[in-house]
Amino acid sequence: SESSATSYLNFLNAAQLKAVQHSPQTPLQILAGPGSGKTKVLTSRIANLILHHHLPASSICAVTFTNKAANEMKVRLTKVIGKEKTSEVRMGTFHALCALFLRKYARSIRLDGNFTICDAEESKKIVTPLLKKYKDDLAAKDISLKEGTVLALISRAKARGLSSKDFLREVQAKNHGPKDSNGLLTSSTTVNDIDFVVAEIYDAYEKTLRKNNSLDFDDLLLFGVKLFTTNLDSVKWCQHVQDTNVTQYDLMKAIAYARCVTVVGDPDQSIYGWRSAEVGNLARMRKDFSSTEQIFLEENYRSTASILRASLAIVAEDKTRIQKSLHTSHPVGLIPVLRSSSSEQMEAAFFAGEIKRIVAHMGGVLNWGDFVILLRFNALSRTIESALQKEGIPSRVLGGHKFFERVEIKDLLAYLQLVDNPQFVPAFVRAINTPARGMGEKSVAELLARADASNLTLVDLAEKIHSGTTSDIKPAVKRKIGPFVSSIRILKQMASENARPSDLIRRLVELISYEDHLRKTQPDWESRWENVQELITFASDVQSDWQDGLAVATSEDAQTSRDTPLRLFLQASMLSSEGDQQSKEGENEKVTISTCHAAKGLEWPVVMVPAVEEGTFPFYRTDDVEEERRLLYVACTRAQSLLYLSYATQRKVSGETKTRDLSPFVSSVIRRIPVIGNFFTVSLAHSIVSSHYSWKTRQSYLTRIGKSFVKF
Ligand code: ATP
Ligand code: MG
Repeated sequence: SESSATSYLNFLNAAQLKAVQHSPQTPLQILAGPGSGKTKVLTSRIANLILHHHLPASSICAVTFTNKAANEMKVRLTKVIGKEKTSEVRMGTFHALCALFLRKYARSIRLDGNFTICDAEESKKIVTPLLKKYKDDLAAKDISLKEGTVLALISRAKARGLSSKDFLREVQAKNHGPKDSNGLLTSSTTVNDIDFVVAEIYDAYEKTLRKNNSLDFDDLLLFGVKLFTTNLDSVKWCQHVQDTNVTQYDLMKAIAYARCVTVVGDPDQSIYGWRSAEVGNLARMRKDFSSTEQIFLEENYRSTASILRASLAIVAEDKTRIQKSLHTSHPVGLIPVLRSSSSEQMEAAFFAGEIKRIVAHMGGVLNWGDFVILLRFNALSRTIESALQKEGIPSRVLGGHKFFERVEIKDLLAYLQLVDNPQFVPAFVRAINTPARGMGEKSVAELLARADASNLTLVDLAEKIHSGTTSDIKPAVKRKIGPFVSSIRILKQMASENARPSDLIRRLVELISYEDHLRKTQPDWESRWENVQELITFASDVQSDWQDGLAVATSEDAQTSRDTPLRLFLQASMLSSEGDQQSKEGENEKVTISTCHAAKGLEWPVVMVPAVEEGTFPFYRTDDVEEERRLLYVACTRAQSLLYLSYATQRKVSGETKTRDLSPFVSSVIRRIPVIGNFFTVSLAHSIVSSHYSWKTRQSYLTRIGKSFVKF
């Protein structure tokens, strides 16, 4: 019926409705603070384009920065337009969408569609030997340069759309000044060694990636831009985009069709190192897409007034901020708690105690799943996890040590990557000695060099050595390589018959006696073995998604693209993040521990932030203090009903006990955030209301509390 068909328009405020119903022909920017309904509006707008304007779902593309955000939209959209239509909308991260289309159209930009996606750890493996060459030089100049730094600088260059040649040119231009009146370098000209080294490594790194037929995460975007700008037919879409850096903006511009572009963003929540790019992009978009209109959403529907007030007080200190208004009609609610403890253990115990007490007194209304503890960085989770465990509180880590970065997972994926791409060096180096086969570093290096010289893939070379067609090889190497070769051979055969990825993993585990290997080498082998089982589960999920046509690919794509089940599985693993397993059964009944970064876009009734200290907020190694402030703002604005900020006056930092001060982000606004002693009383905790209840119910609860507890 008409009423249910337009039910997605109910409960929108005037500005939200305007954004949802905005003409598909006019580009639109939605700028708004946290909790103002950006995600809700974007979802409703997609529904409106399909249901009201009758655009085919497959012509709509919704891009997000994280998997979690994409999932969130998928869930919300499914509720409005159903599972089938939702699966037709191309929805995913920039990376996933680029990977999808690059596989399909790679050849048009002279790339091989069989590429393997290279993750951060694998990139590091490639950079390590490249960096080694400069070791002595750098040491002589007393410069310390780590792989991580090199990769971060390369990544930054790629995010700005610079190739290695562009980057080198830029470094030269920047570092060779000052010049004399003839444009020649003067004697005082200096050269920044680090930049030059990085530029040279960048170039070598690119060459290695191409030779490995591999793309790193940034390449997915760079080549995506190339594909979409040279192959305009590849895709014609309506675009809906959340948060962009420069390369991502180029991508959006390249694939946006018929000026049907909607961009949503909040510069106050830029936490991925490119706010200036984001702000610039908004201006660029108004230039590139003439008559772009702007809509501001100014009402927050997430948090109580006191949480919003405290959060805004924090971000308002950012002097570079673009003024934006944000208000709420929600009641004042409970004033945020600022708690000081004498050590990190006391802090963690305080959180655990609070959670336990609140749940005990709010049984049924607030449960474990309504709490989140947001960390500036992962290492803070250890103390918190053990405190929760001590109190018997179930917890899960979101965006922490990522599932797909664990040793046992990477070991198995390496074999499968080799089956898919026999020349992918990082996977070869890993698999050849898993389980340990006594192939020394030297032997492995020799194999790599040999493959290089003979133009054979690594797997083919191994085959040749094993079958004896290569003479001058040590018998020991030949013997050691045997089990590796036969495992790969069997898996390859299975894969060529389109075996299910879950079956491939089961067979692989048998072939290399992986359970035994874990038992012998890992003290916590049981939990690692559990992870292997979890990988099999993940593989069968990907598989059934694929069969339902629910994978990122639409059914049309699934038929025409060269994706095999194995490749789809590998891609899903590489592009996955912990958040994807979020809705797994039982997970909602656990306290969530997450980094502040990973929590962007999400919300919880109760938010607790530990270590709100100088050195953590801002993080002592940051080169952008304002971004750190925005990060704290993102964390605070996840809270619906109750917010705890906490700091410890003493904390152990890399084994040493250090004296700590309250974060300047909070101390500078402390007058605006009343500090209530150290505790909430039990009666106050009683009045916290869960998100399981409708806002109307919550509102009446909160109003009641508000009346007895409005202090400001
Ligand atoms: P963030 O910047 O943190 O990503 P956002 O702007 O995307 O926030 P949403 O997540 O879309 O905000 O909305 C925040 C909450 O407010 C959600 O629970 C959403 O359902 C609710 N909400 C949004 N608009 C309305 C409305 N008009 N009436 C009632 N609730 C609303
Ligand atoms: Mg959002």
